[in-house]
Amino acid sequence: MHKWLYLDPYAEITFNHSRGKCLIFNVLDSKKYLFEGEEYKMIKRISENGYSTKITNSDIKEYKSLINRFEDNFFGGIYTSIDKPLILYPIINIQKNLRKFKKISYRDQGTDILENLLELSIHFKNNSCIKIDKIIQLIRDAENSSLKKINVFIDSYSLNKEAVEILISFLKTAKIKTYIEINIKEYYSFINNLPDAKSNEIFSLQVIIADFDFSEKIMEEKNIRIKFKISNEEEYNYYFNKISNNIEYNFEIDYSKADANFLSENIYLNEEDIQDIKLTKQNYDANKMLNRNLFGKLVIKNNAIYSCENSTKAIASLDNEINLKQILFDALCKSNYWFFTRNNIMPCKSCLYKNLCPPITENELQIKKYNLCNVLAM
Ligand code: SF4
Repeated sequence: MHKWLYLDPYAEITFNHSRGKCLIFNVLDSKKYLFEGEEYKMIKRISENGYSTKITNSDIKEYKSLINRFEDNFFGGIYTSIDKPLILYPIINIQKNLRKFKKISYRDQGTDILENLLELSIHFKNNSCIKIDKIIQLIRDAENSSLKKINVFIDSYSLNKEAVEILISFLKTAKIKTYIEINIKEYYSFINNLPDAKSNEIFSLQVIIADFDFSEKIMEEKNIRIKFKISNEEEYNYYFNKISNNIEYNFEIDYSKADANFLSENIYLNEEDIQDIKLTKQNYDANKMLNRNLFGKLVIKNNAIYSCENSTKAIASLDNEINLKQILFDALCKSNYWFFTRNNIMPCKSCLYKNLCPPITENELQIKKYNLCNVLAM
């Protein structure tokens, strides 16, 4: 008989080999355990040997505290048998679908690929001539997809009046929940022409206020939500004192304007925040492979389609014939962003918390800073 030190399959390990540290995350109860030094070396050995390694009586003495920690917290221990125990440790292979898609010569085959479309954002910017017929065709083509949410961002209503009206009138029949955001300066002319945007339950309307630039009569509006864009404490206090009891509101930090101190005090993650993170096994596995914030989203701006708000490389142009399946195929196979994980960038790449931290956001992409945390030296 031999003795084997093993880890249970729900113990997920992240290593920082250069610092000689590792983190075990128990996906059953979201508890996290840090190890270093000789204990790190033993866990490395267990991991490299398929989640169990043969140990001697002297190992049992030397690693007593490690073994106790495994056993007391129910994620591993000692097993006695002649043969090495078979442990189905966590390996995921969500690339299987991608390999399948790459083998298909005609992108039109099957509808599986449409399951990857989850959200569509459409921008009406300060340039006119948006190809609204192509956008409507794209939404119609998404009929058999998993598209659950459409965002319409209206930076300029006056320049895109006709296109916005055609889209809103089409969306009333499309039965996909649509979130409309409009600048306060354009809100009144928009709502005078399209009162349905407030009364139809398919729509959720949010009015954006920034730069102290608004009249308080907006607080009397019904069936809207207000989003205050802030970049410092002064703006926060100013708006907070103007809010009436009846209005729904939220604050959004403008990352491009906020200074480092404001970000650090208000949004940076601390060690305690990370310790409090609860993740299912499914989401933990997803964090290793794809970006749960960005995956499945397409963004239409300036008559081109992108795989995220901050991408500058278009997947397709509305000037050409569009094929939704081909667009999704290109987003899956060519886009960096749907698969842009903390494992892809420094310093997160070498941090033990890389699979636990929330996925990279558009805000982090915008300011090109990915460690919005006070966690150092991990
Ligand atoms: S460095 Fe990156 S992965 Fe590590 S705690 Fe900070 S944000 Fe999370």
